[in-house]
Amino acid sequence: MARPLYSPVSTGLRGRCVKCAEGSLFAGFLAFAKRCQACGENFEIEDAGDGPAVFVIFLAGIIICPLALIFHIKTNAHIIVTMLVWGPILIAFCLALLRPLRGLMLNLQIANDAAEARLDEDV
Ligand SMILES: [Zn+2]
Repeated sequence: MARPLYSPVSTGLRGRCVKCAEGSLFAGFLAFAKRCQACGENFEIEDAGDGPAVFVIFLAGIIICPLALIFHIKTNAHIIVTMLVWGPILIAFCLALLRPLRGLMLNLQIANDAAEARLDEDV
């Protein structure tokens, strides 16, 4: 199998196919297309599972939660106000990162020929 010509990081973050950098990885906001519309690369092998969501949760925990705590402590705001201000920010942050990280994980999987380990494969 030939190696991809494009960086899985730059194409994945932009939601583009790692083989041709033209076709979109996505058929919806988060749903992957079955195949690349430009080159026909198969995207049904996607097996990232919860990987992108875990990275998003880690980043939200590192970035957003301390900012919300600082806001709460510095402004002495009621907890409901803090939740109303930072809840939408947290949701927007997670939604903004989830799609690029899903694209990145799929492209890294394709670029590295990553698959579930099996005992019966010939090496
Ligand atoms: Zn393609």
